[in-house]
Amino acid sequence: MMDDLVKTAELYYDISSSEVKKAAREFFEALDDNKDGKVSVQEFLSFMGQQGHTKMCNPHFFNQIDRRGNGLLGFKEVMAVYYIIKSGRPFCCACDEFIPGMYFTCSKCFGNGSNLVCVCPKCFKDGAYKPFHKHNTFMDNYALLEAKRLQGNQHQPSSSVALIELPDSTANAVVPYNNKPKSEWSHRAELWLKALHLAINAASLAANCTIM
Ligand SMILES: [Zn+2]
Ligand SMILES: [Zn+2]
Repeated sequence: MMDDLVKTAELYYDISSSEVKKAAREFFEALDDNKDGKVSVQEFLSFMGQQGHTKMCNPHFFNQIDRRGNGLLGFKEVMAVYYIIKSGRPFCCACDEFIPGMYFTCSKCFGNGSNLVCVCPKCFKDGAYKPFHKHNTFMDNYALLEAKRLQGNQHQPSSSVALIELPDSTANAVVPYNNKPKSEWSHRAELWLKALHLAINAASLAANCTIM
């Protein structure tokens, strides 16, 4: 999982402008306090604490990123951290752990512009978010993406499916588009459009920001 993140961060880094590469390099150097070319646990924790990244200011998160398990992060791992910050990759709202792979997001909060509420697969399965969150409308990140894609194709209903919330269930069902009343769908489509804008903003932030 963490390897995928490192690869993704590398891909973004490779296609970045020299300005963004410079910012990434500065980010690494800011973390590498004693300038030995590696970032230790102590350097990492004190930097994240200073920057107010409270969830990352955590030895457990460091260990998740530290692929070789030697207590030191190289440039690639630090780029993965940079990518996690810039792309808004989530931490689980129930167990507080960083979620390196697929996750579940509250579609209600996602659509209405509230803070994202995400849970890891295990906490989703266990319902561990329930004491912290009033909604029961979680959807996995792939389904969310598909719902946004369908929003752009809503004039071709025959082969399309729509995602709806099931009352009294944590699950979201895929149903034939035609079964869904149009007004309700339009409302949801609007939500997905907003969500899409959020995603695009996050992507352009990742591409354009010169410093965190
Ligand atoms: Zn969790
Ligand atoms: Zn919610």
